[in-house]
Amino acid sequence: MLLLARYVLPVSGPHIEDGGVVVHDGAIVAVGTREVLTAAYPADEIRDYGLAALMPGFIDLHTHFEYASFRGVVNDLPYSRWKMQVMRLEELLTEQDWKDSAVLGAIESVRSGITTVADVTDSGTSVAPASQAGLRGVIYREVSTMDKSQVRSVVDAALEDIAAWQEQVDPSLLTIGIAPHSPYSCHPTLFKTVANEAGERGLPVALHLAGSKDEYDFIKYGSSSLGQDYRAQSGWSKVVWLPTGVSPVQYIYQWGILEVPNVLAVHCVHVDPLDVDTLARNDVAVAYCARCNLKLGMGIAPLHSFLEHGLRVGIGTDSPASNSTMDFFDEMRIGLLVQRGLAGEATFYRAKQFVRMATLEAARALKIDHLVGSLEPGKRADIIAVDLSRSHQVPTQDPYGAIVHTSNQEDVVMTMVDGRMLYENGAFLTMDTGGLYDDVENARLKLKDGRA
Ligand SMILES: [Zn+2]
Repeated sequence: MLLLARYVLPVSGPHIEDGGVVVHDGAIVAVGTREVLTAAYPADEIRDYGLAALMPGFIDLHTHFEYASFRGVVNDLPYSRWKMQVMRLEELLTEQDWKDSAVLGAIESVRSGITTVADVTDSGTSVAPASQAGLRGVIYREVSTMDKSQVRSVVDAALEDIAAWQEQVDPSLLTIGIAPHSPYSCHPTLFKTVANEAGERGLPVALHLAGSKDEYDFIKYGSSSLGQDYRAQSGWSKVVWLPTGVSPVQYIYQWGILEVPNVLAVHCVHVDPLDVDTLARNDVAVAYCARCNLKLGMGIAPLHSFLEHGLRVGIGTDSPASNSTMDFFDEMRIGLLVQRGLAGEATFYRAKQFVRMATLEAARALKIDHLVGSLEPGKRADIIAVDLSRSHQVPTQDPYGAIVHTSNQEDVVMTMVDGRMLYENGAFLTMDTGGLYDDVENARLKLKDGRA
């Protein structure tokens, strides 16, 4: 198959005008100009997207598919109160509601041009939709307990799920990992046990880390509304918690979890240069979730410091529960603008840098950049086409600028993973959306009525 468009953005090299990508058996075999490729591959079926950009699919470095139906339910509360409200509302949903919600999450990812996801779930409801949609990624089984006596059974149950889920997916596309939820919800022994098991079994690890000021205060000073309320709601009120006197990063570093070979830390807002240095020395990757962090008043992650220390950094949406949509263009745009605002003219972030972070750098973060993240012969064909012909985009000067500053998820006209079309011109080719929107509307009404 020969895909053609006005612009091809390989990301790993300069963009090509009037270019194309040749895909055979799920792999990219050539990237070049229209003229050269049509002459060299005359027998290939042609898909011409016109005034559009062909580029690598986005990699959502942090999401929770199953929370898609929480969109807009808790819109105007800061992180700690949002978290408690979401936790309380979770009890209102049935197993079917969670499944529908996860399908919605998968659909919205495909719609937004996301081809790889790093999804965190404790129930596993995202496994089937991710697999059915044909997405690539890592699904992390979440674990948490502050009760030391429960640690072994919590980890054993997770290991069982991980083995079972891995059987349910195509291992060439999906990998199952493990995710200790956060420093405020995991006993130190849990971090230690997960570190040992993940190290031994080669499991990728993800964790929420240093996201909110309340988390920071709870870990360092021993008290905050988040820490107290979360523990009370989880039935851990009797578990003794003492101030550690250090930051969340330094705290969990003591328990060996950062030394596992493949660790993804999500948020990392409340970190100082020593923390970033610790992350860098342990080669920990970071999911930058700017929109969620802004919306919940968590703060702004020190991207400049991450990049200065050579951290592998990609972009995460953290699901519609926290940021309302999975629109990856919004994610890049807001993530870029807030950093420009902070850094001023001395350190000026360019659009291309954020497109790279949304694709190739995120692939490096997941250690799958040998497979995806850029359009290069030999890599798997995870490709999207973004229409640049609409009124809000004309005239298109620099294609990278058009992607970041003028495009949105409705402009995605094709999403392909491993050479397979998942979405084209408004049609979902692997998922059935019939009835789904009504079902999640029912879930939404339950959540709406259940709000405090
Ligand atoms: Zn999250």
